[in-house]
Amino acid sequence: MSDKPLDDLKAGRSINLAAKGENVGNGKGDCSMHSATMCPAFGSLRVTMRIEGLVPVLVGAVGCLYGLDFVSHFYAANKPIVSPSLTPRELVQSDLTDKVIDIVKDVVSHENPRMIAVMSLCTPETSGLHLELIPRRIGQTEIIPMRVPAYSVPTHAEAKDVAISQILKRIGENNEAAGVASAQDGLVSIGEVFPTDPVQLQIAISRLGIKMQAALPSKEISTYYDAPKAKVGALLHPFYDRTARELRDQGLKILHSAPVGAEGTFSWFMNLGRLLELPAHEVRDIANDEANKVADELEKSRLDGTRIMIAGYEGGELLFARLMIEAGATVTFVSTSVKAGAGTKEDAEWLADRGVKVIFRKRHEDDIEELLNNPPDLCIGSSNLEAHAKRRGIPSVYFTNIVSARPLLLSSGVRPLVEQMKLILSQTNRYTAMRDFFADAAIEVGVREPISLKQ
Ligand code: SF4
Repeated sequence: MSDKPLDDLKAGRSINLAAKGENVGNGKGDCSMHSATMCPAFGSLRVTMRIEGLVPVLVGAVGCLYGLDFVSHFYAANKPIVSPSLTPRELVQSDLTDKVIDIVKDVVSHENPRMIAVMSLCTPETSGLHLELIPRRIGQTEIIPMRVPAYSVPTHAEAKDVAISQILKRIGENNEAAGVASAQDGLVSIGEVFPTDPVQLQIAISRLGIKMQAALPSKEISTYYDAPKAKVGALLHPFYDRTARELRDQGLKILHSAPVGAEGTFSWFMNLGRLLELPAHEVRDIANDEANKVADELEKSRLDGTRIMIAGYEGGELLFARLMIEAGATVTFVSTSVKAGAGTKEDAEWLADRGVKVIFRKRHEDDIEELLNNPPDLCIGSSNLEAHAKRRGIPSVYFTNIVSARPLLLSSGVRPLVEQMKLILSQTNRYTAMRDFFADAAIEVGVREPISLKQ
């Protein structure tokens, strides 16, 4: 990005108003319009639409609802979104809050759910929807407000954090009022992982005498009630800042990063033992054993001599990069849409020590620039970046579809991913054949070349 965002806009490039340079990662550059991600509210919808016993109520402009309803059901949501049918004029009128309260009361009288999540989008947030005036509870139904306008929640990943933290906040407040103790024992994991990962994690931590209280996000509403009972909150994805704060306020200790790769597995277990004040030598033995199991798997599955570029949205890219490096690959670049912070610190430092360039709050153009200037053997990226790479004959896949759809944690997380990368690389000739086949056609139909950021 140039020093003048307006120049970028005029040149057709997206801008990220998060300050670059010295402000990155220190909290001062957090206010950003992140143009390379979809509507953030999708994240909070995605979490809430899967919880049985919770009805999502979305308050926003008709166009927003149309898009969000479509994309949520495209991603297999199995319940409808309730939404007040409000005209643009009604959205800015002073009785907007009353109308939303009426809708919430209607939902309670028709469905009597355990929870209702009221999500406020860009327009009502701007025009002044008073979420705090909506009753906290109607009958037995908890009404939980969630503010997810794009100008304060830059990515859909962070809107998931808003949703989960708000639910846990309400449960914590109710527990405190009822004198229910939190932070008792065990571990709650937070972050979307492959379904077998929490099972493997449960087996591994049971060696330390620790039980898994809950794994979030969950379809079961009762899991959210179980979560604050844990003593440690393991944030497997780095963007759960608000959730970490909430759990910490309820007395839980927070564990960052995840048991990925041999070194990551060792340090994760040691940090867990430290938080639980377990005897260090016992933890070290188990940490070593689990790390050795990962190392054994890594010896059998190698990516030596391969150059990989990794670009994604949710911060899990850093963990994946660690695994690729331990498998022998050279990771040339890692970019993510989330901000730098406590959740990414350990992994970012590990990667920096190995000379990997890591970009937080990236723009799409950052990825394109890297792809053009430093072409990798394999590109793991967004669907848009993937298309650019394929046009150049570079093997490329969509991070979410390939990486997030496989186990990643502990020793069972090694082979599925490393072997998949080897498989894709073995098909390089297909990518080059595809590029060559379409070469003339691309010129004839005038496919636009990516913008070069070179001055
Ligand atoms: S205006 Fe805001 S709420 Fe509506 S689709 Fe855009 S980002 Fe989402």
